[in-house]
Amino acid sequence: MKSSDVPHRAGYDSDLTGAELSTVAIRGGHHRTPEGEHSEAIFPTSSFVFKSAAQAAARFGGEEDGNIYSRFTNPTVRIFEQRMAALEGGERAVATSSGMAAIMALGVSLLEQGDHIVCSCSVFGSTVSLFDKYFRKMGISTTFVDPGDLDAWQQAVTPTTKLFFLETPSNPLAEVSDVAAIARIAKANDCWLAVDNCFCTPALQRPLELGADFIIHSATKFLDGQGRCIGGVVVGPDKELEEVFGFVRTGGAALSPFNAWVFIKGLETLELRMNAQSERAMELASWLSAQSVIDKVYYAGLESHPQHELAQRQQSAFGAVLSFEVKGDKEAAWRFIDATRVISITGNLGDVKTTITHPGTTTHGRLSPEERAAAGIKDNLIRLSVGLESLKDLKRDLERGLSAV
Ligand SMILES: *Cc1c(COP(=O)(O)O)cnc(C)c1O
Repeated sequence: MKSSDVPHRAGYDSDLTGAELSTVAIRGGHHRTPEGEHSEAIFPTSSFVFKSAAQAAARFGGEEDGNIYSRFTNPTVRIFEQRMAALEGGERAVATSSGMAAIMALGVSLLEQGDHIVCSCSVFGSTVSLFDKYFRKMGISTTFVDPGDLDAWQQAVTPTTKLFFLETPSNPLAEVSDVAAIARIAKANDCWLAVDNCFCTPALQRPLELGADFIIHSATKFLDGQGRCIGGVVVGPDKELEEVFGFVRTGGAALSPFNAWVFIKGLETLELRMNAQSERAMELASWLSAQSVIDKVYYAGLESHPQHELAQRQQSAFGAVLSFEVKGDKEAAWRFIDATRVISITGNLGDVKTTITHPGTTTHGRLSPEERAAAGIKDNLIRLSVGLESLKDLKRDLERGLSAV
């Protein structure tokens, strides 16, 4: 036997039994082809060929496992799904074409006409519209509650309630919800709890271990980490995820193999990025708190934050997103934003490039002034998603903003 014929170990793929998060983020779900490629292969193919008509029939009939068509399964997408399931500690993951498609797929596959959702009022704006407008049209109603008021969750439950839904920490005010306590209320009422884990990612927070049943992600944010692609994922138990898979493959909200491949590459640096970006955000939150033209800073890492201890208990770091109010009105906030020369003015977050947003006129601009006031989003509020640039340069750029207020 030539030495080139001897594999360096029995199989091509890693044994990840007992592996820690950083290892799983780099190697989880990796199936090599017989070519032995080191980096994950990308399969930009819409369909797959069969060796014979009989094999095609067996695949379509479900007697033989394997790929048929990329709306159903694709090997690159499968690596992303298996890696995400392993990182969140769930039985199975199903990838979707966006974060919103993940929430839609979860709702449509779990619920039916007449069912009821209890949802935190501090969730992503499109989640509110999806539940309140589109699910309502299908006869699925939603009650929105203050996530910090545990009695409100219990009181909102009706005999038809099936699903609790929350996001923690929230956007843009970094309110932290008690996942374990809300999971106990959900369980006592025979409901599922789904957590949008977009802001922390499994690197900082693992809601399934706190009692949640499902995780949804906008992979567009920190999982990618470099602002390249739109995508999402649902993680949870096998039985229910089979229904989610059925809906995604039939409804067509499948993730493209290219986007899956970008996310796989993003995950390889997830833990390093989340920790480094959290450290920078912590430093900037403290520094901004000490500035005379800043009224208030919202960041769960600050001891002054009302849920600081809860955040410390359920997260391993406080995340990259913070927001702050400048002294003055909307014009003062806009002057701050426009004075920056390094930070990007954009609505997106979770990027290694630091981004700055005026929530009142962008991400939360569709709310009425009364709704914005109820949500605590003032005209002088600015949101920062802290990236990986040098702290010194970020402070220098923010100083331009401070001087312009
Ligand atoms: C962006 C976002 C979503 C929606 O994700 P898309 O990928 O844009 O569809 C959902 N939840 C949170 C918390 C988000 O930030």
